Amino acid sequence: INDDETIDYVYKVVVIGDSAVGKTQMLSRFTKNEFFFDSKSTIGVEFQTRTLNIQSKVIKAQIWDTAGQERYRAVTSAYYRGALGAMLVYDISKRESFDHVARWVEELRVHADKTIVIALIGNKADLEEKRAVPSEDAMEFAENQGLYFFETSALTGDNVEAAFFKLLEEIYSVV
Ligand code: GDP
Ligand code: MG
Repeated sequence: INDDETIDYVYKVVVIGDSAVGKTQMLSRFTKNEFFFDSKSTIGVEFQTRTLNIQSKVIKAQIWDTAGQERYRAVTSAYYRGALGAMLVYDISKRESFDHVARWVEELRVHADKTIVIALIGNKADLEEKRAVPSEDAMEFAENQGLYFFETSALTGDNVEAAFFKLLEEIYSVV
């Protein structure tokens, strides 16, 4: 679907999390079904879109990428403005990226709308042999914070659609 006239709603979604966890590739996989080992080519792009159906409505998901501003507190409130959903991504093979998740949640609580729907995403699930974050730890954190939780692989595409669709369906049901 590409005709702008048929669009019922535009949903802004932000993708956040530490550098190199796979945010840009998640987005690329979801909007273009592409993956690049070297993601430099997509730097500077502010957002990408994909139009899809949620319960017979035509939804245009406008998904924003941080484009290298992941340093602590470098993402400005303009980035979060109007966002209805957030994908908070960490890398299952990098413990530090999960340890910083609480910080990113705090950023959302400060800068984003109170009703924002948040999905916690453990990306690079294909790197099972290098796993540094047990699924149970993330599940427990997500439950305590009221977040949805998915493990994905932007590389294989595993669960990427499911995670985005769940977030968008949830936004649809709350707005
Ligand atoms: P960002 O800084 O969070 O936007 O991370 P990128 O999307 O640029 O990805 C950082 C690096 O991780 C790149 O070399 C990607 O190819 C790689 N990468 C991203 N997603 C995955 C994944 O699901 N599995 C594996 N094995 N590598 C990934
Ligand atoms: Mg990136």
